[in-house]
Amino acid sequence: MSKASTVASKASKTSAAPTRDQLVQALAAGEIGFHELPRDLSPDVQAEIRRQALEQLTGAGLEDIGHFSLDSNRAALRNCENFIGVAQVPMGIVGPLHVRGEHMDEEVYVPLATTEAALVASTNRGCSAIRAAGGARVHVEDVGMTRAPVFRTAGLDATRKFVSWVEERIDEIRGIAEKTSRHLRLLDIRPKSFGTTVLLRFRFASGDAMGMNMATIACDRIVRELIEPETGVDCVALSGNYCVDKKPAAINFHEGRGKRIFAEVILEAAVLRRILKTTARTLVEVQYRKNLLGSIAAGAVGFNAHYANLLAALFIATGQDPAHVVEGSMGITCIEAFGPEAVYASVYMPAVPIGCVGGGTELDTQRQALEMLGIKPDPAQPGRAALRLAEIFGATVLAGELSLMAAFTSQDLASAHEKLGRGNAPPDGRSGRG
Ligand code: NAP
Repeated sequence: MSKASTVASKASKTSAAPTRDQLVQALAAGEIGFHELPRDLSPDVQAEIRRQALEQLTGAGLEDIGHFSLDSNRAALRNCENFIGVAQVPMGIVGPLHVRGEHMDEEVYVPLATTEAALVASTNRGCSAIRAAGGARVHVEDVGMTRAPVFRTAGLDATRKFVSWVEERIDEIRGIAEKTSRHLRLLDIRPKSFGTTVLLRFRFASGDAMGMNMATIACDRIVRELIEPETGVDCVALSGNYCVDKKPAAINFHEGRGKRIFAEVILEAAVLRRILKTTARTLVEVQYRKNLLGSIAAGAVGFNAHYANLLAALFIATGQDPAHVVEGSMGITCIEAFGPEAVYASVYMPAVPIGCVGGGTELDTQRQALEMLGIKPDPAQPGRAALRLAEIFGATVLAGELSLMAAFTSQDLASAHEKLGRGNAPPDGRSGRG
């Protein structure tokens, strides 16, 4: 008998099911867990019962967490267990941003979800500079999603034999992987071995999806249906941290993961002066001493001012997995003299895992944000919408990087935060962070 039905039988001899209040009391008393509410209750009702129990347990008022318009069925069943409501994050808009990619050449309005004052105003200024410069040129490479199970062998000879076996059976492995999804393609397998340990880094193309679930499911099938039964070698963990998911790592920096994004722009003296309130010489010096020398001194993995800020705001607005900001934030900004008074500026992000189907992208506000960007998967061209999204991300990160770097040259960083983050003054666009 389940704990919820125990509550039911304890609670009342006359009614078949426990009342909401009885369930609240049972939760608050610890007689049942948050995941043990009767499944026939709707997600909305379950959320309300959990909130009421939590209010009793913690003394906190949870009314605002309970105000939402999203489809709680989807959220509770596909995105978040023990659903109690939402965390609202303010969303601002920047643009128009002119993106000159290989899959789009247009101006877009970009939603950013953030609680950091000055981020939106600053990025908006970067968008103006890019627009005045004729747009940001963006190039995206679809590296693919990786998953790397780890195996234990009996020693060096067994390890070499195992790796050879994998290399010889690649077509069979591919067949199993590609049966798990219409959109998944196995690109390659990169082995890394030492002693009794073998890591196999599988790399998949995943269409318009970010692909982490797809890759994980495919690896699970490959391991259980083919590798373990045929080799007798045990898989110790389906993720052996050589993937590498949600951890900063050199392999992602060098090999890439998800989308590899490049964006560039040339800013003439007039744009630097009029919009960014700076000059080529000062901007190049801040780039050299901050992004390069400062990052080297710190032993940083990324050589940039604040990719994480823009990626986090874009990820939350458009339903990406926010934990992937970890690998996305690695990358290199370049700002160099271009003639006597202009600069060439670029951003390079080798590992940005994003998609426009699956995961959080299906939630209502996130889907609307994607629609605002003109991002809609096209069954006739799978993968193209995600590449367009990556192009927008690249240009937005460039906009944010330019404005913050300029803010350092004009000493605007602290004053903008003081004004926008602590006061009521309307933004004047001369701001930055990092
Ligand atoms: P998913 O929602 O698990 O899978 C995407 C689904 O969309 C596939 O089943 C695919 O099915 C379908 N699809 C329909 N049209 C598509 C198109 N045009 N392109 C690609 N797929 C299409 O999403 P996911 O991207 O694989 O995984 C994202 C989720 O993984 C996020 O919620 C993230 O938080 C989570 N995550 C999981 C792990 C893990 O280890 N499992 C790790 C990190 C993050 P068909 O191809 O069969 O139609």
